[in-house]
Amino acid sequence: MHRIMVLYGHQAEAMAIRMMEAMNIHEEIRKLGIENPYIGLKPNLVVAQPAHWGATTSPELVRGVIRYLKEHGFANLAIMEGSWVGDRTGEAFRICGYELLSQEFDVPLVDLKKDTYEEIEVDGLAIKVCREPLKVDYLINLPVLKAHCQTKITCALKNLKGCIPDQEKRRFHCLGLYRPIACLSKALRPHLTIVDGLIGDLTHEEGGNPVRMGLMLAGRDPVLLDAYVAELLGYETKEIPYIGLAARLGVGSDELHEDTLVELNHNMKEATIAPIEPGEEIDYLGQWIKEDRACSPCFGSLVHALMRLKEEGKLESLPKEIAIGQGYQNQKKEGIGIGSCTSGLAAYLPGCPPKAKDIIHFLQDYLPGE
Ligand code: SF4
Repeated sequence: MHRIMVLYGHQAEAMAIRMMEAMNIHEEIRKLGIENPYIGLKPNLVVAQPAHWGATTSPELVRGVIRYLKEHGFANLAIMEGSWVGDRTGEAFRICGYELLSQEFDVPLVDLKKDTYEEIEVDGLAIKVCREPLKVDYLINLPVLKAHCQTKITCALKNLKGCIPDQEKRRFHCLGLYRPIACLSKALRPHLTIVDGLIGDLTHEEGGNPVRMGLMLAGRDPVLLDAYVAELLGYETKEIPYIGLAARLGVGSDELHEDTLVELNHNMKEATIAPIEPGEEIDYLGQWIKEDRACSPCFGSLVHALMRLKEEGKLESLPKEIAIGQGYQNQKKEGIGIGSCTSGLAAYLPGCPPKAKDIIHFLQDYLPGE
């Protein structure tokens, strides 16, 4: 059974190394039995904006992946990406800090917008896939954990869209995104996915409303990862149709179990909220939050839950006094709280940290007529 690993914290480079050590990735690559295997790293550089904007993969995370691979003797690496139709990948490589990374470790940057493609048929749908990622022996997918205005989330499966030519990206939109994204994940299935959940976006794939989540996820099953991410950001898995479609194509499993998540640390001090530029949306949602030393994963889940309620037009009816944070430990008082730290309040949602989906269910009781 596949599992999802989680690490809490904000030190992307050290966390990536620790994650790969825990998953014994070097042994897995060696077992391929390929001399000097070609390893592709596929970050999310959808736009030319630095990672703290909420849209792109932290170069520090990628630095950790490269360091781990090089220290285990793997030197045949490339970073490959094709930004969205409106942006130049070369600009994204520069602005997002990947040019420096490339120079420091002598790892080439491959602009997939300039690549040729192959047509691969999946489930009756012919998809154009860039040749370079198809050539690799081991593909490491490095998406960002984000909400998305059309597909609701964007993470492991949708990140592969950077591996198709621009005209194919446009066609995916005409085809309604869900089926082509699922088929693409069958045509180009990553061996490993490490999710940058340190800072993601609240609403859009291009960033602008960054939410500090303070976590990193990893797994070998991209479908399972997206199923978990859907709940983490406040959705039911079935609300994101490409997850179920990819599962039916045999790409992975969309069934989450109690023991799917394996926590590699639980040092919430490492994940305690750090300053971040407040966005308009977060400022607005902040009216409902009474925060006292909340950890980023907890705070991030609550922000996503409130955003989902806002999208459904339910937020304004909620009481503006939702307690969260370690400062509420051992406090006996009235009110509602999120997370195990608030167990002394009259009503609270257990979890450390809870998922946005569970927060939404819990808060339903405080909505009139629910
Ligand atoms: S329940 Fe408390 S310790 Fe756990 S994540 Fe939330 S604020 Fe941090």
